[in-house]
Amino acid sequence: MARAATAIITLNAIKQNYLYAKSLSKPAKAIAIIKANAYGHGAIEVAKALADVADAFGVACLEEAKELRDIGIKQPILLLEGFFSTDELEYINENNLWCVIHSQFQLEALQRTKLTKPITAWLKMDTGMHRLGFLPEKYLDAWQQLSKMSQVENIVHMSHFSSADELNSPTTKQQQALFLEAISGLPGDISLANSSAILTKAVARQQWTRPGIMLYGASPIDNETFTQTLIPAMTFITKVISQRTITEGESVGYNALWKAKKTTQVGTVSIGYADGYPRHAANGTPVYINGKKSQILGRVSMDMMMVDLSMFDKQNCIGFDVELWGDNILANNVAKCSETIAYALFCGLTRRVNKRYF
Ligand code: PLP
Repeated sequence: MARAATAIITLNAIKQNYLYAKSLSKPAKAIAIIKANAYGHGAIEVAKALADVADAFGVACLEEAKELRDIGIKQPILLLEGFFSTDELEYINENNLWCVIHSQFQLEALQRTKLTKPITAWLKMDTGMHRLGFLPEKYLDAWQQLSKMSQVENIVHMSHFSSADELNSPTTKQQQALFLEAISGLPGDISLANSSAILTKAVARQQWTRPGIMLYGASPIDNETFTQTLIPAMTFITKVISQRTITEGESVGYNALWKAKKTTQVGTVSIGYADGYPRHAANGTPVYINGKKSQILGRVSMDMMMVDLSMFDKQNCIGFDVELWGDNILANNVAKCSETIAYALFCGLTRRVNKRYF
């Protein structure tokens, strides 16, 4: 018998969200970002579901790209972290991977390596994220080194926004201005937008967008206008496994964090931080039980947590379905109550959680 904790993943929702991302930035093509096991949704299943529509896929590292080539994915695959050794370059070459080039080390290694055919390089500019890439004033030099190499046949210009989810921040415009100035006069495609920049239409001209979180139906921006346009792809469910009556003044869970102000029906559900449900979820974080909105009571423990069942009077609720996030409880809301982001909730599901695909 399988444990009740299950992530139900609707692959068609991911496909619809991908097509929506594309429609927002026409005529740009879109790289479906499916790194980190497709943000916890299962990279193999998601890649297969998008195989007939995706222009390209984006992953963090070679292992993630290999997993996709092994199941026969034919699209270009962009390695967002680039490469770190000559062996990796050979695999990139043989398997037609696109590679982000972000450091002088990589330029020199590429220069030294003989390849059987030239590769497509995505040259990354650090316009303010200060994570990877060449600073704008060093970019032209990096581009010139790369463009002289016989190992390279195509150079795409890219950068990444640090604050595109902050609607009132001037940073995205400033990053874009630095970028456009540094590539002025250079040939080649451009790629800038992540989900936030796609949803806010922050980039006027680019050939490639890079949607990630929006594919999974969560908005990177804390604003209902955007969440409403996306279809949640994951419904995370479990069941009520125990029930008791708690009288006024009695407490529930570790550290007695919640105390009953009146007699309350309390249910224990089979989910905890060992499944990836956030331990920081506050008292009152919403859950959806058998068609009704409820909330968690007290502290989340390793395998279980408690919920309010008062809305069912004294009905026996053992076996009731509990939605932790999905269509009725947005992952964004749970994230907010837990001082985290939907990205971290999805990526944090552990292997104890069953996955079912539709
Ligand atoms: N592009 C790069 C370089 C990234 O690192 C990421 C994710 O971190 C994305 C695109 C996708 O971002 P998002 O999930 O916010 O759309």
